[in-house]
Amino acid sequence: MELTFWGVRGSIPAPGPGTVRYGGNTSCVSLRTEAGKLIVLDCGTGARNLGITLMGGEFAKGAGEGSILLSHAHWDHIQGFPFFVPLYVPGNKFHIFGGAKSSSMLEGILEGQMAPQYFPVQTLKNMGASIDIVAITEGTPVPVEGCRVLARTNPHGRAGALAFRIEEAGKTVVYASDAGYPPSGPPAWM
Ligand SMILES: [Zn+2]
Repeated sequence: MELTFWGVRGSIPAPGPGTVRYGGNTSCVSLRTEAGKLIVLDCGTGARNLGITLMGGEFAKGAGEGSILLSHAHWDHIQGFPFFVPLYVPGNKFHIFGGAKSSSMLEGILEGQMAPQYFPVQTLKNMGASIDIVAITEGTPVPVEGCRVLARTNPHGRAGALAFRIEEAGKTVVYASDAGYPPSGPPAWM
């Protein structure tokens, strides 16, 4: 498995000379499985550069397929979603997994940030690619791109954030981003 870090910042993008080494984009990590499949972990602003890179391959021809795992829907984890170019190419297929009470609720959350007051392209269906959205619950393994994915909820904000354990042929990657700051008073990061 090969991991690439496209965005490593939290809360808001942090460009500038102090963040040159690891970049200033918010959360986005891509994973290429041993079998060559694509899993995207979170869609912060780092997803923009990931998308541009993917357009150098089959995603430009509408022949790409991949899965997106969303830890939670705070802005720094979804803000790059509307700017992820492969989503606009008809023929591409994406499977989106995230924590919500239902798949339609998760779809509504993603649609919400693309409401006309916030973004010019309305609705996921207008993006072009085939997109299916599945709400997952912690503790129940789901098959994703040939891997076994197990989610657990970390304490984070009101709804928590999912951490993902991804297993493929004896190899394991754990993606655990946001977890536990004091439940009352100003957040520690402010
Ligand atoms: Zn968060």
